[in-house]
Amino acid sequence: MGEEEGVTYSEPLSYDISNVVYWEPNSKELKSSGKSALLTKAKTFLLEGCIVQINLSTWICKPVKDYNKTTYTISSTTEGLVCNCQGFNKKLQEYKQGKSEIKPTCSHIVAVKQFCFIEEKNTITITNGRENQGMACMASLGRLQYD
Ligand SMILES: [Zn+2]
Repeated sequence: MGEEEGVTYSEPLSYDISNVVYWEPNSKELKSSGKSALLTKAKTFLLEGCIVQINLSTWICKPVKDYNKTTYTISSTTEGLVCNCQGFNKKLQEYKQGKSEIKPTCSHIVAVKQFCFIEEKNTITITNGRENQGMACMASLGRLQYD
């Protein structure tokens, strides 16, 4: 049961890296479909502070120390969130060629969605002067995400 420890069934006062998977819609979906490898990686990126917002529609995922050396760029486009990592682009090709029905995603995109979710939720519950950043971040996601 280790993984289920700390499950909050009632709405938490603040959202953080440990409870975001139970609340962020995309992460909830991944969790119920058993794709927890993506969630595990996304959690690592958040814990290590790898996700940095560059502008309204661009984020970077910095390398995890002693784990990899590449910085990936995640952008919000008319096609939804895209990432320049190999895994995402392979899945995107398969999706475009009709070989796969699954909308492409990757751990970097999951991490960005969680990052924005936490920012947005905590901006509403904790007034700390970061309203604009959080809301803008969520607005750009909401408008352009796949689903
Ligand atoms: Zn990626």
